[in-house]
Amino acid sequence: MQLSNIRHKKAIMNICIACSFLLIMLNFVTSAKLRDVMLNIGNMQLPITSLNGCIQVVLCLLCIILVLIDSKKGMIWSCVFLGISIFGSARTIFVSKSLMTAPGTFNAIIFLIAIALIAHQIKISNRMAVTDSVTGLLNRYGFDRDMRKRIWLNERGRVAFIHLEGFLAVNANLGRKYGDELLTIVANRIRTVLDGRGDAYKIEGAEYAVILPDRVNCDTIIANIIKSVEETITLNKDGVPSNCYLTAFAGVADFTDNSVDADTIMKRADIAMNYALKSGKNKISTFNDEMKESIESQLRIERLVKDSLRNNWFYLVYQPQYTMFDRRLRGFETLIRMNAPGGVKIPPSEFISIAELSDLIFDIDSFVLETAMREFREVCYSSGNTITLAVNISAKNIARPGFAEKLLEVVKDTGFPPECLEIEITEYSFAEEGNYTLENIRKLRDNQIMIALDDFGTGYTALEQLMKLPVNLVKIDKSLIDNLIRNEMNMDFVKSVIYMGHLMDAEVIAEGVEYENQVECLRELDCDFIQGFVWGKPMEYDEARELSNEVYDRS
Ligand code: C2E
Ligand code: MG
Ligand code: MG
Repeated sequence: MQLSNIRHKKAIMNICIACSFLLIMLNFVTSAKLRDVMLNIGNMQLPITSLNGCIQVVLCLLCIILVLIDSKKGMIWSCVFLGISIFGSARTIFVSKSLMTAPGTFNAIIFLIAIALIAHQIKISNRMAVTDSVTGLLNRYGFDRDMRKRIWLNERGRVAFIHLEGFLAVNANLGRKYGDELLTIVANRIRTVLDGRGDAYKIEGAEYAVILPDRVNCDTIIANIIKSVEETITLNKDGVPSNCYLTAFAGVADFTDNSVDADTIMKRADIAMNYALKSGKNKISTFNDEMKESIESQLRIERLVKDSLRNNWFYLVYQPQYTMFDRRLRGFETLIRMNAPGGVKIPPSEFISIAELSDLIFDIDSFVLETAMREFREVCYSSGNTITLAVNISAKNIARPGFAEKLLEVVKDTGFPPECLEIEITEYSFAEEGNYTLENIRKLRDNQIMIALDDFGTGYTALEQLMKLPVNLVKIDKSLIDNLIRNEMNMDFVKSVIYMGHLMDAEVIAEGVEYENQVECLRELDCDFIQGFVWGKPMEYDEARELSNEVYDRS
């Protein structure tokens, strides 16, 4: 489409140039060779030289078309054509000592000035179209244009896409005006670091790009840009200084020859940037093929999760938990499953970890909480509110301010007995300081909701620290149970975990128990509960309800 456009423009330009030459020739012939010829139109006569005015106007029109197609080349051609015209008529004035052609000369000069003004205006509009109005940097179109040009010229270098995290919060809290100020400060910092060694662009929202030629030290420049952008930015809101902190991520792609087109290079830089953003490990990622595959599979799963939420492809299963000594039903752990069309089966361990990289995990947690509480309300009531329903909540979610209040609202809306609800969180929830995890947990416990510490034994949190956590239940991870019989050191560790759990005033459950000899061993170690395939696999709601009815009918 673009190419055919360019071809059309070139063809029109060539036609205009050819016509202009013909008009100049005609002008020359009429004023030099046929000067005295009269045209007979009916019974009236017209001197042929009077056609020169018409020729000049048409010439001027052609010049305007040339300038509109290409302001630079069009202006050069206009100077040539109108210059010849001005020169011709001025020469006539001097040679024939007559002012007959003076008005024509005057017109041609005015036309030339008008065309120069039009060309100048077009230049300004073109510049505006490729300039970001807030920061003054070139925008996405400018970036596209420059990138294509460099590839076409077979240049070598690097492209870096830079994404700012934290900008949206400033925009929302302080307002757009301050958001714009922040973007301008960032643009100036990037310009300062570049110091003429490369070009900066503002792509969209909170995204910038730089193009660096390979003769400069690209890695250091990109690292310095990230460093400089992350330095404190102080905005003055109504005279009150407000400090803002941004986190920057960069995706880098090389352009080494013209075998790869500009679009591909931009896509690569984009993939690398998403990788940096999602991996959360490195602030700067350079594109490689492995990254492409991993990000594509991540995006595919992310899309599937979104579709599953939208189309109700998620459903819940419940795995029973039993008391160790009399094998009575303690309750169930809620586990999510995906039932996408075409038999696509992705295990929760895979899609949960991907959903945790974005806000999708909040939607999953809300879906599970609401569905489980609605489905299980009756089961809990019919058990005399003695059965426990455990729900897994992501560490990212429990660390959010207001999580406890939102959960209590769902409890109220669904009419679920709060004393039957247990929230499972992992020790990673406590890894980061300064979040709201402890506050949320205390609020939940104040409202009779129980807290279980999931996957215990897989993290690196000091035991001493874990002992201070207000949890009711410690869940020993399957990896420790797997080696329980074979590995004596493991058995000692499990023994001390159970001992420690009891010291914390919590109960202890072993999960992933598959064999009776493991049960026996755990019994000796004084473990309180068992969850595992040995006594019950995850089952659908109807089966779980039947199981609990059987137990409570019996009792
Ligand atoms: P988890 O919370 O530790 O869940 C226990 C996992 O161990 C479940 O796998 C369960 O099916 C499995 N399991 C239990 N007993 C045995 C056993 O005897 N043998 C074997 N081989 N496996 C056993 P699942 O359902 O695949 O879940 C894996 C992880 O995904 C969960 O670990 C949890 O971290 C996450 N997850 C599952 N459902 C949810 C959910 O609804 N919300 C959130 N946020 N995470 C969930
Ligand atoms: Mg769990
Ligand atoms: Mg677990």
